[in-house]
Amino acid sequence: AKRQGRNTFAGFEPGMDTELKVRRELEADLASVVERGELSLCFQPRVSMSSGAIICYEALVRWEHPERGQIGPGLFIPIAEQSGRIDAIGNWVIREACRLSLSKLSGAPVSVNVSGHQLRSRGFVENVLQMLKDCDFPPERFEIELTESILVEDRDRSLATLKALKRSGIRLALDDFGTGYSSLSYLRAFPFDTIKIDRSFIMNLANDNSSLAIAEAVINLGRALKLTIVAEGVETVEQLTILSSRRCDEVQGYLFSRPLPADVVPQTVESQLAV
Ligand code: C2E
Ligand code: CA
Ligand code: CA
Ligand code: CA
Repeated sequence: AKRQGRNTFAGFEPGMDTELKVRRELEADLASVVERGELSLCFQPRVSMSSGAIICYEALVRWEHPERGQIGPGLFIPIAEQSGRIDAIGNWVIREACRLSLSKLSGAPVSVNVSGHQLRSRGFVENVLQMLKDCDFPPERFEIELTESILVEDRDRSLATLKALKRSGIRLALDDFGTGYSSLSYLRAFPFDTIKIDRSFIMNLANDNSSLAIAEAVINLGRALKLTIVAEGVETVEQLTILSSRRCDEVQGYLFSRPLPADVVPQTVESQLAV
């Protein structure tokens, strides 16, 4: 039987292929994935807790493999990154996110995930600014999401890159907050606008006191540092109620919308917040 799940080697018979062989094949396929038009973007709204308005859309990449069907980014992004294929994919994601925002989402702000290899690539800042310019997309409506693990690798260079992005008007979000190592020193040194509390804490908010304590601490920290706090992976009204009472700024998750193609992703979600 086929193993299912977005981050597993779906479409492969376990035992027939070793993981290494699968990896090598995917790696080879990834080399021309942009040219073959197999990538697409889904968008997930990020919602203001106070107004119910959609603040921005996070772009999440999807790969429709001709033989294997959908392969999740949790599986192929790390392979693309380790094999150096990520730059072409990342550039495509940025252009496509801007293009679709302008053509389908009334020019709404978008956020994109950027990997370490991409951030450290030569001329990254100039490259991003040029792509935004080519699309006529205002940098103020563009946000880059980064995880801490990306920043530790080459701290000084990452810091310089982030400062340059920030100067150009691009917004910066620290993704998966709470799962890295050196959160607090990074918050002070790096010019982030937004912190996204990792889904693992939100998931257990209602039944685990330590997750609740961590979420509360991050919200308070964000307020003290004048950063916007986003809770990711909000699935239930109960979680929403807890986050609302703790005055979390923004929420994102299946409760409002799954990540969906730009044609069908909701343009308003206010009804869900009225609960
Ligand atoms: P992430 O940036 O932390 O994105 C959030 C993930 O959680 C997404 O999975 C999203 O579909 C999922 N999610 C959102 N709301 C909920 C919820 O309420 N419940 C649950 N259970 N899940 C929720 P996805 O799309 O499979 O992406 C996985 C990861 O792949 C992302 O994690 C991100 O690290 C990476 N990724 C996705 N697109 C890109 C991209 O264009 N470039 C790069 N470098 N990485 C990407
Ligand atoms: Ca993200
Ligand atoms: Ca995240
Ligand atoms: Ca994550």
